[in-house]
Amino acid sequence: MLSTPRRTHRCGDFSEADIGAQVCVQGWAQNVRNMGGVSFLLLRDRSGLVQVVTDERSPDAARADAEKVHLEYVLEVRGVVARRASPNSKLPTGQIEVVAESVVILSRTPALPFNLDGHTTINEDLRLQYRYLDLRRPELQNNLVARHRAALAVRRYLDSENFVEVETPVLTKATPEGARDYLVPSRVHPGQWYALPQSPQIFKQILMVAGMDRYFQIVRCFRDEDLRADRQPEFTQIDIEMSFVTRETVIELATGVVRVLWREILGQEPGEIPVMSYADAISRFGLDSPDVRFGMEHVVLTGLLAGSSSPIIQAGLADGGIAKAFVVPAGAEAASRKQLDAWTLFVKRYGLGGILWGKVAGPWTGPLARLGETELSALAAATGAKEGDLVILGVGKPEHIHPGLGRLRVQVARDLGRIPAGFAFTWVVDFPSFEKDPESGRWMAVHHPFTAPRPEHIALLGTGREGEMLADAYDLVCNGYEICGGSIRIHDPDVQARVFSTIGLSDAEAQQKFGFLLDALRHGAPPHGGCAFGFDRVIMLLCGTENIREVIAFPKTASAQDLMSEAPSPVDPAQLGELHVRNVERE
Ligand code: ASP
Repeated sequence: MLSTPRRTHRCGDFSEADIGAQVCVQGWAQNVRNMGGVSFLLLRDRSGLVQVVTDERSPDAARADAEKVHLEYVLEVRGVVARRASPNSKLPTGQIEVVAESVVILSRTPALPFNLDGHTTINEDLRLQYRYLDLRRPELQNNLVARHRAALAVRRYLDSENFVEVETPVLTKATPEGARDYLVPSRVHPGQWYALPQSPQIFKQILMVAGMDRYFQIVRCFRDEDLRADRQPEFTQIDIEMSFVTRETVIELATGVVRVLWREILGQEPGEIPVMSYADAISRFGLDSPDVRFGMEHVVLTGLLAGSSSPIIQAGLADGGIAKAFVVPAGAEAASRKQLDAWTLFVKRYGLGGILWGKVAGPWTGPLARLGETELSALAAATGAKEGDLVILGVGKPEHIHPGLGRLRVQVARDLGRIPAGFAFTWVVDFPSFEKDPESGRWMAVHHPFTAPRPEHIALLGTGREGEMLADAYDLVCNGYEICGGSIRIHDPDVQARVFSTIGLSDAEAQQKFGFLLDALRHGAPPHGGCAFGFDRVIMLLCGTENIREVIAFPKTASAQDLMSEAPSPVDPAQLGELHVRNVERE
């Protein structure tokens, strides 16, 4: 390996075998203790830490220089490795120290805006502003190293499966992944704009028409949407496309990617990954990205409660309402009144009025206890609730009940510490092709409009029964996070045109937006399909953090700002003029 000039060792590489060696190390002073003629400097580089000492064994100059060192100064230390009088078992190099012969200060810093010791909680905005300091912390460096290793492992695996990494444009035309586009004005073509890709979707399909057969790319994508904890305006995908395949082939390949990643980073073998239908996921978990690490599955009780004596239940079931419940084993004692109140409030975010709960504690207690004996025993029989359990019931519109109780199931499990460590995966397949946009009442593609309907459902296009159509689409879910999604694509230009028309695009609009894809499909398109992994999210899971910013070197805040470079920022009006753009004062 290429050696660094002067440096003989990295700080973390020392062992007892080095005792007596003449060495040179370079790094940052993580800890400085000057004790009148004796100084201890803890020197850090990416590999770890080593203690440097100046004492009576060191020349006077080295002792004087060590006293000039402050936290995070960059040093070059020459000296001899010695056994430590008092070893530090917490430090991998804790058996030894470097007795300095010279201490050269290579670079200085004023006092830091925050402590890098890893024990202090630092305001995240401050960390992002001084990201170069924050990134000196081993946790973050380890995350970036894991990310690098993961990318390498994926590249090796896909290469071995005959995939070719191809770059696609960043300055391009809008791709419909359902978010707002980032736009870039063209200087050369006044009034015209590029869009940054929400994904390389159309290009990868065109690469299939071009005969590339198996494509992948670890690629940046851009989506201007309201950010959530695990989202970033620019993020990375492992984007994959294959020709002449079925959904099963893509699922097998993507499962291979997961295996490679979990093996490489965690040394773990994810077992067989089960496949469930979208309809099952919604019915059993309320969500299309179910966390299957724990039970507490939903039970549909609409039929059972149809004749309920409760006016609340009757009202909830009116006009197509449904009833669902889940059981929290041993929840009667575990769940406090305060928690139950909080959970009642929690579901209101999803449009529900509240929940009905009952504790099976001898006689039932709680709001459900108002139901008659017979109804309660039927409820217990249907849900499997036993003595000591808590039953949570929701009644209302399906579009509120499924997500409301779905998210609540996870919240309850979190609050009560019922989520086991580790990973549980599931594939979700057979998504609906279309759903109605609640505002416009128009059909929208659930995945994206290039997704093929199941072959047997193509005939439903244009019949008004599009809501019944299932798509040849699939998502991979891990611990409740969608980590990969994809589909078999439409390769027949006529079907593609009919799908565009279903989602309300006129022929002229379709031609204007996606004419190049339609044209390509008319020039000999192989059947094809693929998927894309959310790489940041996967790394987040592999690194055991719930904060996506911890696995990105220079992330943006929840309001899409880079606090270090201060982007976005105003630009010179002259520059705007060149781009034929003018700032409009906001009312
Ligand atoms: N382009 C899709 C996405 O970004 C993934 C795919 O269908 O391959 O979600």
